Amino acid sequence: MSVLNQASPSTALPDAALALRPSACPGLLRIVAARDGGICRIKLPGGELSAAQAAVIADVSERHAAGVVELTNRANLQVRGVRSGHEAALIAALVDAGLGPIRATGAVDADNLLLASSADDVRNVMVSPAAGRDPFALFDTRPLCIEMLTLLQSEARFAALSPKFALLLDGGERLARLDHPHDVWLAAMQAEDGVRFVFGLAGCPPAVADADANAFPHIARTGSHSAVDHPHPNYAGALAAVLPAQVTDLVRALLHTFLDLAAPDATRMRHLLATHPVDALLQHAQTYVDFPLSRDTSLANWLRPTPADATLRLGAHAQRVVGMLHVGGQPPLGRLDATTLRGLATLSQQQGNGTLRMTPWQSVLLPDIAADAAPTVLAEMNALGLACDPAQPMTRLIACAGSTGCAKSLADTKADALRLADRLPDGIDVHLSGCPRSCAAAHCAPYTLLAAEPGIYDLYRRDGQPGFGSRVAHQLTIEQAADMLDPLAHPARSPSDA
Ligand code: SF4
Repeated sequence: MSVLNQASPSTALPDAALALRPSACPGLLRIVAARDGGICRIKLPGGELSAAQAAVIADVSERHAAGVVELTNRANLQVRGVRSGHEAALIAALVDAGLGPIRATGAVDADNLLLASSADDVRNVMVSPAAGRDPFALFDTRPLCIEMLTLLQSEARFAALSPKFALLLDGGERLARLDHPHDVWLAAMQAEDGVRFVFGLAGCPPAVADADANAFPHIARTGSHSAVDHPHPNYAGALAAVLPAQVTDLVRALLHTFLDLAAPDATRMRHLLATHPVDALLQHAQTYVDFPLSRDTSLANWLRPTPADATLRLGAHAQRVVGMLHVGGQPPLGRLDATTLRGLATLSQQQGNGTLRMTPWQSVLLPDIAADAAPTVLAEMNALGLACDPAQPMTRLIACAGSTGCAKSLADTKADALRLADRLPDGIDVHLSGCPRSCAAAHCAPYTLLAAEPGIYDLYRRDGQPGFGSRVAHQLTIEQAADMLDPLAHPARSPSDA
């Protein structure tokens, strides 16, 4: 069993498990209704699950739901189409497979159900899908990830955090997603006498040679209402650095500081920064730790020295140990059917280490593949319908649930994305969203097609403006959008080059 999978089995849960808490976000213990049935979200520690757990998810998705499993942009999984009356059995099976929060171990009675549900909600720590494997990593973040997840679930007070409150632990890997704003981010830095963790609030670690996605780290999601916020005035970049052994205490201090000072309607760190200077927050956090905590101005312009490369999630790439590779592929629009998930689980057992890693690009990574087995694994992934080459259009398209799964959607974004795939110009990443909530993308995509009516979209281009960027065209069919995207992405091409 992997280091990241530590939950223990549970016995059956009561019907009260189905009670909704105020949050509208799906959880493992809180199945939220959607147009295509219930949604049960399974938080995976570090995006990792065992092959046995994957097989359980595949089985229950068929037995209790529509047989569709969705990968999320936080490297979690969700079962879609949960059938009415099947919720408790689905939840019990998942908890028994060790996929629940710490408080869901052992019998879960009605009294601790809310706590268990809250403990499930706060399990939001992102690490690289190649954590512990990436040759460029300065630090193996997996043990720290477990510490963070335990911390979040072990203090009852942290149950008050929003289900969207999230932490990033960046070990310096090349395969890293750095464009999702996090409430607290920590990034490994090589100092003269060892590794330190630089940290910041309400943003992303700035990196050298950033893609333009990372050129606007101050852009943050507005929660449930639109894609991105205006930059908040107090975004301060890297604040200071701590020893790896101090990271957990630092995070605990920052969480308590947030809960001490945030107004009742302030759910994210950016809200607190809008009302409190960052130095005041550090001063307050100082009362919770026994090491010095103040802004280190020498880090004001700190940049992560290793550029991130999202394409490493696809295909076969070297791990730290010579002769071992990780192999990854992208399921079309982030969805797997039960048969495919079972096939990936079998592949990881036969050719890998028996674990799968979900990535925040809604893709799957199989670690620890021997170099001579990699061609076989790639071929089998392709046969299962996963795109393993960045040149394949399906690696450059994301779409929210759309009108078949969500009542808010003005268009069938999934079907329209498949149509766009046939004509997608090379080098273009496009996000299709049924409404401004932007469920499929926590980042601002280079191009966004925002539904206006069935089959009709407005086209936005990322340019640092809030939201999806600037609107460059409106009321486009998918064919018209495809025609517009090529010259927008390749303005230097002459018509004869196109
Ligand atoms: S972004 Fe898509 S899935 Fe999310 S609420 Fe809007 S229409 Fe629904």
